[in-house]
Amino acid sequence: MSAISGRLVVIGLGPGDPRYLTTEAAAALGEAQALYGYGPYVDRVPARAGQSRHPSDNREEAARAAQALGHAAQGINVALVSGGDPGVFAMAAAVCEQIAAGPETWRALDVAFVPGVTAMLAVAARIGAPLGHDFCVLSLSDNLKPWSLIERRLDAAAQAGFAIALYNPVSRARPWQFAGAVERLRRHLPPATPVIFGRAVGRLQEQVAVTTLANAAHETADMATLVIVGTRETRVIERPGRSPLVYTPRAIPPAKAEAIA
Ligand code: SAH
Repeated sequence: MSAISGRLVVIGLGPGDPRYLTTEAAAALGEAQALYGYGPYVDRVPARAGQSRHPSDNREEAARAAQALGHAAQGINVALVSGGDPGVFAMAAAVCEQIAAGPETWRALDVAFVPGVTAMLAVAARIGAPLGHDFCVLSLSDNLKPWSLIERRLDAAAQAGFAIALYNPVSRARPWQFAGAVERLRRHLPPATPVIFGRAVGRLQEQVAVTTLANAAHETADMATLVIVGTRETRVIERPGRSPLVYTPRAIPPAKAEAIA
């Protein structure tokens, strides 16, 4: 089958501040004839003559991906936008799922993915280097996986000595998720383990707070919050007149490494 002329570009917009938009993303947005995405992300892209806009609701990822692919298959240059990076709990995988399951013609489309600054990197950069050693990334949303699996992954990550970035700490339907995760992590990590809350980073309402695992459940996390849980080695450097630096040292000496599961 010959390739068809349409194109779908899945674009990461970064965490919010336009300074985080890469030049590659800006160029791809400038070339697109149609723009798809969750409404608030589409709103971040300035309107342009000749570019149609197709905002949709948050929960409609599969349908949105299918619509964008269908439009591209008509020979149109389509942009599909995500916050942060499109490959991190976002539209890139939804597009691949649709291509895998969809009509043969979608496999002949020119599909490209443009990376963006994901929330955990924006939050980490605000505070120092909490992800300076090995780390892992989990979404606490149990929309697409059972909560029991999330608990087992939290156990494994804490026992393995990873710093842990938590996306989707709270969802409207399940407000207890974050407190449940903290309770789980406290089984493995000392109460003084540093925990960072980055809320709406790169946006006007940005707030970054550092606390401990002992106090983490009292801190408010919402749907715009990214949480980073440190390791036993993660340190806080207090500074006069400045906010603290939080970092995870790059090295683990052999004696400490032996103690890690
Ligand atoms: N693709 C996005 C993540 C989508 S999942 C990315 O790469 O960043 C949505 C979750 O991302 C939110 O619940 C929150 O945990 C995190 N998030 C997205 N934008 C954020 C921001 N500006 N500040 C803090 N966390 C953010």
